[in-house]
Amino acid sequence: MINTDIRLPFTLISGKEKGKTILITAGVHGAEYVGIETSKNLSRIIGPKDVTGRIIIIHTVNYSGFRERLSAVTAEDRENLNRIFPGDEKGNISQRLAYFILNSLSKKVDFYIDMHGADLHGSIRPLVFYPVAVDKEISKIAKEAAEASEFSYLVASTSRNGSYSRAALEGTPSILTELGGMGIWSKEEVDSYTEKILNVLNHLQVYSINSRKDIEITYFEPVNEIMAKEEGCWYPFFKAGDGVKKGEKIGVIKDLFDNLLGEYYSPTDGIILYQTVALSIKKEGFLSAISAIEEV
Ligand SMILES: [Zn+2]
Repeated sequence: MINTDIRLPFTLISGKEKGKTILITAGVHGAEYVGIETSKNLSRIIGPKDVTGRIIIIHTVNYSGFRERLSAVTAEDRENLNRIFPGDEKGNISQRLAYFILNSLSKKVDFYIDMHGADLHGSIRPLVFYPVAVDKEISKIAKEAAEASEFSYLVASTSRNGSYSRAALEGTPSILTELGGMGIWSKEEVDSYTEKILNVLNHLQVYSINSRKDIEITYFEPVNEIMAKEEGCWYPFFKAGDGVKKGEKIGVIKDLFDNLLGEYYSPTDGIILYQTVALSIKKEGFLSAISAIEEV
């Protein structure tokens, strides 16, 4: 990448026939291994003769974080790449990397899929985010691709500073997929993730598959992220995927001598979509994301 020592590991699959260009990124968070391994798997199984158009796969956007086994951040600047888009051409390494991904890649393609997976200290119910605070047509194209993915949870997102959300704001339909977590990965998860991404590529008419299942989709409103008001030990009362009622206690923070420091309640009827599983929590650290089911 220009003006840095960064080398982005990527695969370009250029099809025989002309068509759309699709960008797939993994490892924006370097410890989301299911997505990273899925990106490798996709490049193994998709041959150029099966592709109409082009598929660009970046295997780890945040390679330094992957190498150093960091949670969420880059090794160079300790920045969370998914919070600093659109980036800055003249900023630190992370800001320049974000700027490059947006301006040289995601803004220039027809569709963008950013693969995530709950990071080292998170647990998540597999789901896909699609942008809603963007141009209506861009949102519609993204939502339809999400619906074709066979992720059963679709979550509306109003995010503006992430890799995929910024691309959507700038005119590229895009989705963020989540599968995996807690710093582990398995072949079963990689196979499942691969199938879902292939479903999206099939929907976008760049790659064909035959088997499609009809699955029931649950639509969610934008998430309520609950943040810690104290530093200490986090004791969640539920798991990702559990249903909760408005006002129900979802967990507590205690100190190392078991004194109660804070209690946390759900702001809505809904589902805990993802949450922190680490015992250690910082003040203002992320605890839990709860989302209301959308009335369809
Ligand atoms: Zn992530």
